[in-house]
Amino acid sequence: MTYLLVVSNLFCNHKCTYCIQQESSLDVRMNPDKVDVDILLKFLGRNRIAHSVKLMGGESTMHPDFEKMMDGLLDIYPKVVLTTNLNGKWYRKFPETLEKMKRWKRKVKWNTTFHPAWMEADVYIERVRTMKEAGLWLDQVAATDTPQLTPEIADKLHNADIGWKLQIFTGRNEAGELMPRTWDDVRTQYPLLYYPSKYIDHYEDYQQECEDANYSDSMYRAEWVSCTTSYFLIGPDNLIYPCHRHLYAQDRRYASGSLEDVEMSNFKFKWSKLFGRWTMPCDTKCNPCDFRSVKLKPMGKPAHPPARLPAFSQPGPPRVQGRNHSPNT
Ligand code: SF4
Ligand code: SF4
Repeated sequence: MTYLLVVSNLFCNHKCTYCIQQESSLDVRMNPDKVDVDILLKFLGRNRIAHSVKLMGGESTMHPDFEKMMDGLLDIYPKVVLTTNLNGKWYRKFPETLEKMKRWKRKVKWNTTFHPAWMEADVYIERVRTMKEAGLWLDQVAATDTPQLTPEIADKLHNADIGWKLQIFTGRNEAGELMPRTWDDVRTQYPLLYYPSKYIDHYEDYQQECEDANYSDSMYRAEWVSCTTSYFLIGPDNLIYPCHRHLYAQDRRYASGSLEDVEMSNFKFKWSKLFGRWTMPCDTKCNPCDFRSVKLKPMGKPAHPPARLPAFSQPGPPRVQGRNHSPNT
């Protein structure tokens, strides 16, 4: 199924130790990019791509045009799925914020995650309760299973009876390693998240597929693969990417095209409107969370020394090589 996601900005009001954006994008000073809302809405108004749209960051509520973006997306789509940490400037005067939320009614599905290092559990609980009482659609009320989530905090969230759930950890562990680490981890700890045999023809070696995919010295595969992906991901740099790995690293070689190309006539890869997917050759490893919407086939072509794809030509400053982002936000 087509997965349409807008990553409006990579900066965030938190700085979680387990976030895989740690070194590149969390701080607005390092990655100030933010999607141009007028251009975004013009593009999606012409190309709806999917029946609903997902919006996340970083923390999307920090985008200076966040409310305009939400209003515009809700004019185009019957549903917006918003992932947020329920914290930060936009939420500060909560009673006023609640009135704005109510304006969007139940067309917004709120996916919230609690991050214990940056927010009091009582504040999170109170906000969730208030939103529920106001009749808003809270789909996810979760905290990620990290060392910061002490048993006391977990008990408090559990006893608050707000529908809280523990979320599987898919970020960086304390040693800085991307989790999961091996296919054994996937089989034993993440069976509901990934079914590798379903998505990858030869999936025996986890390290070939995604381990350390975000480190520049080991992010390339030994062989090219043909990747079919139903991700249509719009980045904060106004470019469109086929997967999280390329978007979070802002790897322009794999940007399919620009939001400014409303007709999609100069796109490097062709989006099949019929099947809702791209197919492209790729020489880099994946972010683990990409597996759910891609299908990989070996091409039998060595990638080292890598024959590089030309970058999508759009003027702009060079990017910091980023690490990928987990779906933890
Ligand atoms: S193979 Fe992995 S990194 Fe390459 S385009 Fe597909 S999902 Fe992205
Ligand atoms: S995990 Fe989410 S909330 Fe925490 S720093 Fe990363 S993007 Fe922000």
